[in-house]
Amino acid sequence: MDNTELTEPLNFVENIVEEDLRTDKYEGRVHTRFPPEPNGYLHIGHAKSICLNFGIAERYKGLSNLRFDDTNPVAEDVEYVDSIQEDVKWLGFSWDDRLFFASDYYGQLYDYAVQLIKKGKAYVDDSTAEEIAAEKGTPTEPGVESKYRSRTVEENLRLFEEMKAGKYADGEKILRAKIDMASPNMHMRDPIMYRILNAEHHRTGDEWVIYPMYDFAHGICDSIEGITHSLCTLEFEVHRPLYEWFLQELEIYSPQQIEFAPLNLSYTVLSKRKLRKLVEEGHVMGWDDPRMPTVSGMRRRGYTPEAIRNFAKRIGVARRIGLIDLALLEYSVREDLNKKTARVMGVLNPLKLVITNYPEGEEELMEAINNPEDESMGTRKIPFSRELYIEKEDFREEAPRKFFRLKPDGMVRLKNAYIIRCDKFIKDESTGEVTEVHCTYFPESRSGSDTSGLKAKGVLHWVSIKDAVPAEVRLVDRLFKDPTPNEHKEVDFMEFLNEDSMNIITAYVEPSLKTAKVGDRVQFMRKGYFCLDKDSSEEKMVFNRTVTLKDNWAKRGK
Ligand code: ATP
Ligand code: MG
Repeated sequence: MDNTELTEPLNFVENIVEEDLRTDKYEGRVHTRFPPEPNGYLHIGHAKSICLNFGIAERYKGLSNLRFDDTNPVAEDVEYVDSIQEDVKWLGFSWDDRLFFASDYYGQLYDYAVQLIKKGKAYVDDSTAEEIAAEKGTPTEPGVESKYRSRTVEENLRLFEEMKAGKYADGEKILRAKIDMASPNMHMRDPIMYRILNAEHHRTGDEWVIYPMYDFAHGICDSIEGITHSLCTLEFEVHRPLYEWFLQELEIYSPQQIEFAPLNLSYTVLSKRKLRKLVEEGHVMGWDDPRMPTVSGMRRRGYTPEAIRNFAKRIGVARRIGLIDLALLEYSVREDLNKKTARVMGVLNPLKLVITNYPEGEEELMEAINNPEDESMGTRKIPFSRELYIEKEDFREEAPRKFFRLKPDGMVRLKNAYIIRCDKFIKDESTGEVTEVHCTYFPESRSGSDTSGLKAKGVLHWVSIKDAVPAEVRLVDRLFKDPTPNEHKEVDFMEFLNEDSMNIITAYVEPSLKTAKVGDRVQFMRKGYFCLDKDSSEEKMVFNRTVTLKDNWAKRGK
C-alpha cells in the first residue's frame, strides 16, 4: 500500500453531491452535519462519519455543522458533549460557529407539532406502552388503530398543551403522527412524536417535560439548518419515508437523506451500549482506556488523527456492510508513525550484559540518528558503559544456525555502538535461566568510524544500566480475541475479552526520554511504537504500546 491509494475515486455520496451540483439542486450549496447523541464517547465508527461529513464539506467548499441530537435527557450528559467536541477538533475538523443542539429547536419543534395537530396529522394517545406495542402489528400483519385516534383537533391541541404544561406523569400520554397503521413499513404506523419525561435536561433544565423523538426532530433540525445531504448509517433507510413525510406535511425545506454502511471492524465492538458496559463493569480504565475503540482511547494509545483519517479514506464509503480488518487501521497507524517518530532504545525484558574489556567507571556518548526516514529530526547522544541491558530474547544459549542475535562465541553489533563477542554466560542452575552475559567489545568497530573489518549480522538495541530509566510499559493489545465478537448468537461478546489485552511490565529506557511529555510518541527500536500516558508522574514514566512493528495477529486470526 502506498499513498496513491489515498486519492481514491469518488465514493457514491460524492457522486450524488457532484450530480446535485451539476443540476444546481441546492443553488450550488453543499451542507452536511454530524449529529451525535451525547450519550457516550465517540468511537472509530463515528470517526468514519465525521470524516465523511466534514470531508465532503471540505472537498466541495461547503459547510458542515456539529449538531448534538440531545432529545433524551435521561441518557445524556455534558461530559459527553465536551468529549465529543474535543474529539472532532482533534480529528482535525472545524464546525466554526455552527455548533447546534436539537434542544435549541425545542420551541420550533413544538410549534411544528401543533401545526400537524391542526392539520389532523397528529393526535394524543393515552394508551399504555404495552397497548401500543400490541396494536403495532407485525411486518406481515397490519396494526390496529388506537381508540384515541379519532380525537378532535381541539381536544388534541388542549391535551398536547397540557402535556407540555406538566399536567401528566411519564408515560400517561404521547403524541403520535397519524399516518397509516396498515403501512408495510412499521415506522409509518403512527410513530411517536413526543413523550413525557419529567427529567432534568443538561441544557434546558426543567423547562420541558415533553421531549421529541429522534424521527420527528431529526429531519426538522436538518431542514432548519439548511442541510443539503443528510448522511446517516444504513439502519435509517427504513426511516427515510418518515423523514420525508414530516417535512412534506409541514411543507418546509427538505434535505435528502442518504444512507451509507456503518463501519464494522474486526476484533472490536462499536456500540455505545456495549462500550458503556465495558466501562461500567470495570473491564477497562474508562472510555479513554487505550484499548477502547473510542477516539479518546485511540488518542491516549498514541494513534494520530492523520492515521485515522487515512484509514477512513482507505475503507471508503459504500452502501454495503462489510467487515474491515483491524489490521488495516493498525497499518495506517504504523505508516504515519514511521514518518513522525524518533527511534529510541528501550529494553522491555532485560538481560544484563557486561563488557569485560570496557574500563569500569568509564562512559562515552554515542551519536544516534533520530529518524532515518526524516533527517530533519536530527541526532541525539546515548550513554554507553560497561554494564548494559539487552533484550532477553536476543540471547540464546542454544541457537539455530540462522539465529543472528547473540549466542556463545557469536558476534553482534550494538546499535550506534560497537561490535561485541559473547565469551561466557551465567546461568541460575535452579531455574535454568540465563542471568548475565559476558562479552568483549572491539574498540575499532565504533559506529560511524568502524575500521575493524569485522562483520556482524545482528544489530541489537540496548541501554546502559546506570543511565537507564525504569518505566512502566503497558503492552496494549486487542481487547477481543475473536474477529467478530458481536456475531456469535449463543455466546455473549464479553466472553471474547482478551485477558492479555494489557500486560504491564517494567522496561528500561534510554535517558533522553526523561524530557518526554504526555502524548509524545516514539518507536522503541525493534519493539513497536509507544506513547507517554497521562498516568505518568515525576516519579514514573508510563508508556502505552500504540502498535507493534508487525501484525502479530495475522496468523492467529485465520
Ligand atoms: P451506537 O450505535 O454506537 O450507539 P449511534 O448511532 O447511536 O451509535 P449517534 O450518536 O446517534 O450514535 O451517531 C452519530 C452519527 O454517527 C450518526 O449519523 C450515525 O449514523 C453515525 N455512526 C454511528 N455508528 C457508526 C459506525 N459504526 N460507522 C459509521 N457511522 C456511524
Ligand atoms: Mg443513534
